[in-house]
Amino acid sequence: MTVPARSLRTWGPKGLPVPYVVRWSGEVVVTDRDLIVRADGRGLGYRDERPGDRDRHGVLWARLTEEPGGGQPEFRCMHPARQRRAMLERLCQVCGGPADRNGKGWLFVLGRPGREDGVPGWPEGALCTKPPVCEPCAGVAVAHCPHLGEPAFVRVRKPRVWGVFGGFFVPGRGGRLAGSEDADLPFGHPQADWFLANQLVVELTRTTRVTP
Ligand SMILES: [Zn+2]
Repeated sequence: MTVPARSLRTWGPKGLPVPYVVRWSGEVVVTDRDLIVRADGRGLGYRDERPGDRDRHGVLWARLTEEPGGGQPEFRCMHPARQRRAMLERLCQVCGGPADRNGKGWLFVLGRPGREDGVPGWPEGALCTKPPVCEPCAGVAVAHCPHLGEPAFVRVRKPRVWGVFGGFFVPGRGGRLAGSEDADLPFGHPQADWFLANQLVVELTRTTRVTP
């Protein structure tokens, strides 16, 4: 039997496994307190901006405290810092150990699109915010993530960093910052200075569907 690369955090009387990337209720969003329009008026910033608040493309990221295990797991949410770390370092989104890679690429478990036949070539070129997995955790993900429905296992040779998921904030009435609906934004977008990122988005290229 294969075991995850790292022991899984569990929660509750049933010992539910809690994925590495999941946000806990004790991890608080502290963005609002410090988010401002930059002194040059050309975009967002933090009152006390620090290195690490922006990614290498200059996009500002939401600020959350990081305290995995604090409070309850919010299974539907990912912690921005851990999601980004898992994507960039190719960590398993479930256990946080190294994701599985073979000659066909890294292993991803994806929820199928609503109408797969309506998306020619899927998942080639699909945008994805769910980091890869290690082999043992692929089974855990399927067993415990009902949103996956009937999941697809995909090997990806080139998960290409594409952009970010998050929302625009622009000054509204009284100079207050007002947020927009969540959206994907490609790096290099002309309005990126007004965008607050929550998750890293990768484009899946050179994909192969595999059986578990
Ligand atoms: Zn794992």
